[in-house]
Amino acid sequence: MKPKKNLKIEIMAIGSELLTPYFQDTNSLFLTERLNDLGMEVSYKTIVGDDWDDLALSIKQALSRTDVIIAIGGLGPTQDDRTREAFATVLERKLIFNKELLQKIEGRFKHRGLSMPAVNKKQSYVIDGAEILENRNGTAPGLWLDTGSNKIILLPGPPHELKPMFDESACPHLQEFKTDYTARKVLKITGLTESKIDTLILDLYPDSPYLRMTILSHPGQIEIHLSSHSKKSQEQADKRVQKLETNILERLKENVFSASGEELEEVVGNLLRLNKRTLAVAESCTGGLLGHRLTNVPGSSDYFLLGVVAYSNKAKINALGVSPSLIEKYGAVSSQVAEAMAQGIREKARSNLSLAVTGIAGPTGGTPEKPVGLVYIALAWDKGSKLKKNLFLGNRDKIKYQSSQKALDMVRRHLAKNKKKKRALK
Ligand code: AMP
Ligand code: MG
Repeated sequence: MKPKKNLKIEIMAIGSELLTPYFQDTNSLFLTERLNDLGMEVSYKTIVGDDWDDLALSIKQALSRTDVIIAIGGLGPTQDDRTREAFATVLERKLIFNKELLQKIEGRFKHRGLSMPAVNKKQSYVIDGAEILENRNGTAPGLWLDTGSNKIILLPGPPHELKPMFDESACPHLQEFKTDYTARKVLKITGLTESKIDTLILDLYPDSPYLRMTILSHPGQIEIHLSSHSKKSQEQADKRVQKLETNILERLKENVFSASGEELEEVVGNLLRLNKRTLAVAESCTGGLLGHRLTNVPGSSDYFLLGVVAYSNKAKINALGVSPSLIEKYGAVSSQVAEAMAQGIREKARSNLSLAVTGIAGPTGGTPEKPVGLVYIALAWDKGSKLKKNLFLGNRDKIKYQSSQKALDMVRRHLAKNKKKKRALK
């Protein structure tokens, strides 16, 4: 059998707004991830505005240098949406009116009690020879066209239209050209620095061309991305990644909080539910971020009872019962106040566990004794409490996020340790 050749792929993001500082081409990131899953690499990414000549030139260049063009955007009804017309012109193909398509678009408006504006009619024209890709979430249909020398996919710009269309209608076309089986895994870690992780796993970096390991650093979280390819089978690709994953887990142990995509708040939520424990939080410098993250998880009302943002000293005293003398003596940003806040919210909420965060998020308010980034986090439970003094780096946003991350991680480690103890007693 003749081996399939790797296709050269170009993603073209079309729209003048993408050349301003206000809009980002996020669709190409989604598409690249999907293509990589198919074992395909992207060779070019172009961003081009709505100007006819620029667009036509970009299409000509893409046709000459790649096998597959995935164009995003410009399929809308307005004057500046020219993708369909530009491709038809460059390819010297007619645009053919499709009555069924028009009826579908009219139907979408009718369903909402509206009549279709005349401008939408242009969306019912199809490049001669192209297949229509259905749009379940909008009026702009996508197109798939195989010219012999090039495969062309036109997709609408809005991400909620593009994503299902790509998965349901465009992906099956590309599957045919898949050359490799691939497997991917993301390990999420918190509580270790990037350099510490690097030294712990340095000798595990694969030297096989079929395996890749990359470390990505975010504030409060490091991710290790593993990917593998196999020409032979999916099983071989899976095994390659699994072996590396097992070796990394042995080294990094409980510092890895997720190997299947979950966020830290989901992991904590699952642990709370599993252990039948409830949580309340008292926040100062995180300003509600902790409560926000916890309640981002559907079903969090099973375990999350109460969140209080006690930003002023008065609020710490009135809402959480922190003693004024404690604040006067040690300051609002202190281990003593963090502990008192945690005890206070636990009593108020009658929760099993509680967290409290107090710190200096900056950029102002720091002193030599208490610099920007100093954050005290307390965890309290029925039989004890734990306190962490942290010195986070970065701007206000980063300090707030790292504080929430550390607080969640304290709960995770506490519950994971309990589980281990229980297992040992059995
Ligand atoms: P269009 O299909 O050109 O009418 O685009 C409609 C909307 O989709 C734009 O206003 C953007 O908000 C969004 N959009 C277009 N292209 C992209 C892209 N490459 N990435 C993310 N959003 C996009
Ligand atoms: Mg546009």
